[in-house]
Amino acid sequence: MNAKTATQHLITLRTITPTTTPDTHLHSPAPTRTHTRATPTLDQHLHAHQNFPHNIRALADLNAWAAEWCAQYGLTHHTDPLIRLAHETPVLEERDPHMWDTLTREITRILAHITHLAGYTPRHLGPCPICKTRNVTQNPTKNGYAAKPVCENCKTTWQTASHWKQSLTALELRALKTWNTPGLYLKCQELTRLHPQLSAPLLAKWKQRDHIIKTEHGYDLASVNARIAREHNKKYDER
Ligand SMILES: [Zn+2]
Repeated sequence: MNAKTATQHLITLRTITPTTTPDTHLHSPAPTRTHTRATPTLDQHLHAHQNFPHNIRALADLNAWAAEWCAQYGLTHHTDPLIRLAHETPVLEERDPHMWDTLTREITRILAHITHLAGYTPRHLGPCPICKTRNVTQNPTKNGYAAKPVCENCKTTWQTASHWKQSLTALELRALKTWNTPGLYLKCQELTRLHPQLSAPLLAKWKQRDHIIKTEHGYDLASVNARIAREHNKKYDER
C-alpha cells in the first residue's frame, strides 16, 4: 500500500467509524477492554489486542490505536492522532519499511472490519452474465455504493446496475430460447414474446397434434423449443 492510499483509507475510517460503540449483538464477541492505558509499545499493543481489529468499534478505539502508532513513530499530536498519522504517511512510508508494512496491514484489517461493522459491506447484486458465477457486487464507498457493479470473479464491470441488469436479461432470454429441461411452463403470451414467430393459433394447433405439451400451468417450454428446432431444421432441409 502506498502513502496516498493509506491516507485515503485513514480518512475513510475517520468518516465511517461510529462515534459511539454500536451496541450490536451480531458482530464479534464484544471485547470489554477499556482504553485507559498509557501508550504501550507496539509489541505490547499487538499482544494486548488478540482480538484486533475487532476491539476497534468506535472512533475512540480508532484514535487510541492511532495514538499508539503516533507514539511508535514519535509523532506528537494535540487533538487528532488519526489525522496526524494520515498527514505523515509519505514520511512514514520512507522511514521504516517493516513498520510501514505492519501499519498498512493493520489499516487494511481495520478498514475491512469497520466497513463491515458500519454496514458498508459490498452489496451483492447477482449472477455474472460473462463468467456465470454469482459474484456481481457493488462495493461500498463512504458516500454509499460505487455506481459501477463489478464481478469479483472475472472483474467485468458495468457502467451502472441497470447495464448489468440488461446484459443479464439478454442472457436469460438466450437461455430460455434454448431451454430443454421439461417442467418449465410458460403462458402463451410469454411464449410469443420469447419467440415472436409463434402465435396463439399455431400453439393451439401444435397442442392439438400433440407436438407440444400443455398443462394447467401453461406450455412446457422444452417441448415448444424442441418443436421450433424441428420446424427450423425441416425448413433448412427443404432448401
Ligand atoms: Zn464474472
